[in-house]
Amino acid sequence: MRKVVKFGGSSLASAGQFKKVGDIIRSDEERKFVVPSAPGKRFDKDTKVTDMLYGCYALAEADQNFGAELQAIKARYQEIIDGLGLSLSLEKEFDVIEKMFRDKAGSNYAASRGEYLNGIIMAEYLGYEFIDAAQVIFFDENGNFDADRTNEVMSARLADCKAAVIPGFYGAMPDGTVKTFSRGGSDITGSIVAKAVKADVYENWTDVSGVLVTDPHIIDNPEAIDVITYRELRELAYMGFPVLHEDAIFPVRQQGIPINIRNTNAPEDSGTWIVGSTCQKSRFVITGIAGKKGFCAVNIEKDKMNSEIGFGRKVLQAFEDNGISFEHMPSGIDTLTVFVHQDEFMHKEQKVVAALHRLAEPDSIEIESDLALVAVVGRGMKSTRGTAGRIFSALAHNNINVKMIDQGSSELNIIIGVTNDDFENAIRAIYDIFVIAQL
Ligand code: ASP
Repeated sequence: MRKVVKFGGSSLASAGQFKKVGDIIRSDEERKFVVPSAPGKRFDKDTKVTDMLYGCYALAEADQNFGAELQAIKARYQEIIDGLGLSLSLEKEFDVIEKMFRDKAGSNYAASRGEYLNGIIMAEYLGYEFIDAAQVIFFDENGNFDADRTNEVMSARLADCKAAVIPGFYGAMPDGTVKTFSRGGSDITGSIVAKAVKADVYENWTDVSGVLVTDPHIIDNPEAIDVITYRELRELAYMGFPVLHEDAIFPVRQQGIPINIRNTNAPEDSGTWIVGSTCQKSRFVITGIAGKKGFCAVNIEKDKMNSEIGFGRKVLQAFEDNGISFEHMPSGIDTLTVFVHQDEFMHKEQKVVAALHRLAEPDSIEIESDLALVAVVGRGMKSTRGTAGRIFSALAHNNINVKMIDQGSSELNIIIGVTNDDFENAIRAIYDIFVIAQL
C-alpha cells in the first residue's frame, strides 16, 4: 500500500501540531509522500502565513519597508523549528526571499514560500527527502495546469524515491517562474502526487473528522459522512461545501484513488471516504445538505410560450449576450423562470430585460430577488420512495414557502428555492427529519 498524506494549515500551525502530524506519519509506514500546507491559524484571530506573505509582498511591491513583516513570518517558522528541537536554519532561505521581494518576483512567488519553507522543516523533521514543487509541477504558457507534463516528470522523479515531502500549492511556469494554484490549492498538489505515485489512498488531514452532513455554522456538531461518492461531493461542493478544493478531485478520480478526509486532532476517527462508486448505503437517506444565498428569479410570461419553437433559446440568448450564467430554469405552460446569481445579475439587470423584450417578446417580466437555493444530495434517494415528500412536508411544518423545485435527472439531488430569510430554517428542517429523526 502507498499512501499520500496532505496536511492542511491548521494541522501545521505550530510545533505542537507538527508533532501530532509526525506521530500520524510515523504510525504507518505506508505514509511515504507528504504534502504540507503553509502554517495556518493557531487560534481564532491569528493570521495564516500565506496571508502574512501576501501582505508583506504588497509592501515590497509598493516600495515600502517590509522588514518588520518579513521578520514576523520568520518568527512563525523559528517558533516551529525551536519547538521541534531542530537545528535547522532558514537564514539563507530568508535572504533569498528578501532579495526576490525587492526584485518584485510577484505575489505568486511570495505566497508559495509558505508551503516551501514548511516543506523544508517537515522534511528535516521526518528525515524525508525534500522535493521543490517547482521541479515537478508545471503550468502551460496560459497559466493552466499541465497535467500530462507534470505526471510524466513527477512519476519519474518519485519512482526511486523512498520517502519525500513535496510542498503544496505551487508549481512552475514554462520559464521557471513560480505560480500558485488558487487558494486552498495544496489539496490539488496532494491529488497530483497521489496520481503520480499510483497511491492506494490519498489521505487529506484537516481539523474536522470528515465531510459533515451540513454546515456547522447552521447545525451544531453535524454528523460526519462515512462514505460519499465523487459525484455527490461535486454537487455539494458546488453549493458551497468547504471541504476540498474542487479541482482536487480530478487527478485521483481518473485513477480510481479514494480520498480519505481525516482529523489531525482526532486521528482515531476514520473520517470520510470519497470514492468513485460504492455499494455502501449512506447512514441516512440523504448524504448531505448544502446551499447558497443570493439568487434572483427572472420570471418570464408569454401566452402560448410552450408551442413557440426556439423560445427557450431566445431567452437564454439574452443572458448569454450579457455574460450571465444561469443556475436553473424551471418552466410552466406560459411561464419560464431563470435563476441567476444576484451579484452577477444586479448591474446588468436592465440590459438583460431589454434584450429579453427584443429577442423573446414576452408579455411580462418580473424579477424576484433575495432567494436561496438548498441542495439535498444523496445517492440513496434514487432507491428510496418518498424522499421528496418528506422534504416538503418538513418544510411545510416549519412554515417555509417553497419557491422552486428542481430534481436533477440523475436523481442524485433535489434543489429547492426559498427566500434568503428561510434558508437556515430550511436546512435545519431537512437535517432534523433525515438525520435526527432518521425518517
Ligand atoms: N496556503 C494556501 C492557502 O492558504 C494553500 C493551502 O493551504 O492549500 O490558501
